[in-house]
Amino acid sequence: MVAGRWSLVVGQRSLVVSRCWRVGALLLLALAVPCALFAQGPVTVGGVTAQPGTIASGQLTVPEIAGQPGTTIPFTIVNGAGPGPVLALTAGVHGAEYPPILALQRLRKTIDPKDLAGTVIMVHVANMPSYLKRTIYYSPIDGKNLNRVFPGRADGTISERIAYALTKDVIERADALVDLHCGDANESLRPYVYWETIGTPNVSERGRQMALAFGIDHIVVDSNRPTDPNASVYLTNTAITRGKPALTIESGGLGMSDEESIARIERGVAGVLRYLKMRPTGPDPVAHPIWIGRAQVLNSPATGIFYPAVERGHTVAGGTLIGHITDFFGKTLAEIRAPFAGEVLYVIGTPATSQGEPIAFIGERAKEG
Ligand SMILES: [Zn+2]
Repeated sequence: MVAGRWSLVVGQRSLVVSRCWRVGALLLLALAVPCALFAQGPVTVGGVTAQPGTIASGQLTVPEIAGQPGTTIPFTIVNGAGPGPVLALTAGVHGAEYPPILALQRLRKTIDPKDLAGTVIMVHVANMPSYLKRTIYYSPIDGKNLNRVFPGRADGTISERIAYALTKDVIERADALVDLHCGDANESLRPYVYWETIGTPNVSERGRQMALAFGIDHIVVDSNRPTDPNASVYLTNTAITRGKPALTIESGGLGMSDEESIARIERGVAGVLRYLKMRPTGPDPVAHPIWIGRAQVLNSPATGIFYPAVERGHTVAGGTLIGHITDFFGKTLAEIRAPFAGEVLYVIGTPATSQGEPIAFIGERAKEG
């Protein structure tokens, strides 16, 4: 019995010790695991590191290769004090689209890393050759549209190498992305957002919520983007085919730098930060979205001088004259008419037109979202 009692006591003690150890270990784990998994650490992009609660800026280098020039891509890391997702914001994919570039200049000053959970990576001017030469659609160096060559190639032309750098250093680092555009310098555009639906159901739904959070009420439902991550073509599509929700937004145009278009982007980013729980407060999502279910870019059938007959935001019936094109002596070459009833999301606002290039974008309201 004595031996038995001892044995029992020893047994009890050992059980107590073992319990304490286990509880202690669990407590340690409970404290240590969140620290290890969820504490905000330093973030490094392109060799530049931002410590938690700080901002750092630098340039991605797109190196020159045999006979082809390189370029740089200025970026900022706003690394929040607390843990959270990585949101990438890209501007200047088209270098003459200024409200997105100017909105990021402001947001760099106003997003306080001390109040931020997670990290914002801003690409201030994605397409520096286009920005410096003020080109519409195309790079002045290789003649390509940067937003048609993703995910890019390390050994490609300048636009392909820019796309490659953005894919590797920004898109693949992000958990969510907003690519900020406006009408190019020839496009008169009403604000709208593209919600791309080709991702997984989860990615698609998060993209939908981000679209609502951005605050622009016209949302084009885009179900026709490529699904191959190796031939993603568009910047946002590169993110979506890699499992990250992404939006393209359009605010502004005609080479303008108007306050309204810039402020709309600032507000939109604040809404997305709230949706992603990167900041506790922010503007409300769109209460009454206007879903555009069917949309068509009307391409120019001729080269010459374009005379628009409608303005951005106009509602048109099927067959409505959108505009006409003349040759350089005033003879009408073609009339462009709306293929279906809808709203003019953008229309070219300057005379120059080339065959095959966009003339207008018409969207039809969906019956339900
Ligand atoms: Zn653009």
